Amino acid sequence: MKGTKLFILSVFSTAFLSFTPIHKKVIIIDAGHGGEDMGANRNGIYEKNIVLNIGKEIQKFNDTQDQYEVILTRSNDTYSQLSDRTALINKLNPEMVISLHVNSSPKPESTEQGAELYTQNTDGSKKLADRISKKFNTLKIEEKNLHILRESKSPTVLMELGYINNTQDREYLTSEKGQKEIAQKFSEIFREY
Ligand SMILES: [Zn+2]
Repeated sequence: MKGTKLFILSVFSTAFLSFTPIHKKVIIIDAGHGGEDMGANRNGIYEKNIVLNIGKEIQKFNDTQDQYEVILTRSNDTYSQLSDRTALINKLNPEMVISLHVNSSPKPESTEQGAELYTQNTDGSKKLADRISKKFNTLKIEEKNLHILRESKSPTVLMELGYINNTQDREYLTSEKGQKEIAQKFSEIFREY
């Protein structure tokens, strides 16, 4: 009996493993803003460019693995309507969606520092937020009624990566080291998912 169970288990896992490359997970990274819509800015640095660079960096990890495929809602400096973004998401039906943004606060130099997460009112979204939060040590996770969270039918989170008007956050988010580190963390989350 024990032997049979083991045999079945091994057949199952072999079958599962051999199917993994075919069932490539689709992950959508939504770089917020774009084009005329600059998002937050400080010292000539724009949110729209930070999130696009980080999105592209996350996508680069595509080349080194075959478990998931990263699709960007925009891959250049153009504005895409929120409704077009969610239409694409709902057409592709991805495993998860991460919308990237950069925060700002009214003060010239923000005393607040670090990443924040906004979720849908679903277990999938909250689970995803929890994983990201553990990896990035985020300040908070909060349910919020935002277009992309409301309209996306897939587990979606919106992440504010840091504060553009906090010097440390801004320098980290615009540095090659910071962007690569963030992309690395996301690739770990995707592989562990
Ligand atoms: Zn934004």
